[in-house]
Amino acid sequence: MDFNKRNKYNLRCSFCGRDKTEAKILVAGIDAHICEICVEQAQEIIDEELDRKKTGVSEEFALPEKLNPRDIKVHLDQYVIGQDEAKKFLSVAVYNHYKRLGQQIGGDVEIEKSNVLLVGRTGTGKTLLAKTIAKHLNVPFAIVDATVFTEAGYVGEDVESILSRLLQVCDYDVEMAERGIVYIDEIDKIARKQDNPSITRDVSGEGVQQAMLKMLEGTEVHVPPQGGRKHPEQKLIKVDTSNILFICGGAFDGIEKIIARRVNTQVIGFKNGEEEEVDRDHLLQYITHKDIKSYGLIPELIGRLPVLTYLEPLDEATLKLILTEPKNALLKQYDKLFQYEGIKLEFTPEAIEFIASKAIEFNLGARGLRSICEAIMTDAMFELPGKTDVDKFVVDKAYAEAKLSKSKLTQLKAA
Ligand code: ADP
Repeated sequence: MDFNKRNKYNLRCSFCGRDKTEAKILVAGIDAHICEICVEQAQEIIDEELDRKKTGVSEEFALPEKLNPRDIKVHLDQYVIGQDEAKKFLSVAVYNHYKRLGQQIGGDVEIEKSNVLLVGRTGTGKTLLAKTIAKHLNVPFAIVDATVFTEAGYVGEDVESILSRLLQVCDYDVEMAERGIVYIDEIDKIARKQDNPSITRDVSGEGVQQAMLKMLEGTEVHVPPQGGRKHPEQKLIKVDTSNILFICGGAFDGIEKIIARRVNTQVIGFKNGEEEEVDRDHLLQYITHKDIKSYGLIPELIGRLPVLTYLEPLDEATLKLILTEPKNALLKQYDKLFQYEGIKLEFTPEAIEFIASKAIEFNLGARGLRSICEAIMTDAMFELPGKTDVDKFVVDKAYAEAKLSKSKLTQLKAA
């Protein structure tokens, strides 16, 4: 039975269901009715939509209100120690990227994509930066490793599977994935090898770089849902990468030598009218796209990563701060675990210094801190829970030294 004509003396609004007695006015259409409240609401929707079109800002892509690059950096400061230059570059790039998504298609000036390249040793915070920013903006985030990809026709994963990870983290919601951030780690490992002994084509290098070009720039990609290699009978998911921000990271081992060679022969800048002196201990600060090209990334790929910045190696003082300062600092985490047991945990300043100095010795950046702390704390975490007579536990240098010397970690030193 037709809802609207169910009772000809008791007509209803076809939108909200109110009957004639509840609505002040019921406007009749050809085959439906609408009450005055629904008309008002519809008008509000129309006004909002027209307003949005006028300002050219798409609601879907709007950044969190009042966000600006400085706020993004302040947020990063809570989680990542140091690396000010990288934070600044990244905040601006990400801000501009999401502003760009807010634009309506068309218009005279189209803002280009600002994919980012982060150069810095392992464990200096490249992944952490990308992850923290994605979380702050509440967009999907995936980490992939460039070393697993190879050119079509060889063993390994197709580059399209970069996007499978992104789809997986947002439950295959394509629209959401199309606004996400992908962190591609170890991008330096697909550099063209300068003296490749193979006479056949370089399997892991240039071909993969070529395959990535379109994806980084923005195109429709057919993605195998589970990743891996595409095969003919598989159903592929179409993903438009125009609005996906790609952040690539790599250690680029030995790039300092390339930079040194260049700055030796070229003026890097002027200070007070004089040629600026090169700070040889921190050569990464002078990195340019040219150095990346000399390292073996092809110019086309470099062109699609226009924002280039670097992360400083972490010194002992910074590692000490990393242990204690960030919102979810490692030592704060142990403290919390012990709090659950009703035990107050304390690390002496000497113990903290010892842990930082060992991380430098093992040459793993901040990555080493976690394994060193685990080696030191495991016995205590095993013994103390459930003990009613302990309410405080102090980790001093002697304790840390003793526990670490017994662990397998010390073999790392030889490695
Ligand atoms: P990368 O990607 O440069 O190899 P990560 O970002 O994965 O290094 O860092 C590994 C871990 O070390 C992080 O999870 C974080 O706990 C810690 N870390 C590294 N650098 C920093 C930093 N600058 N500030 C705070 N923590 C850091």
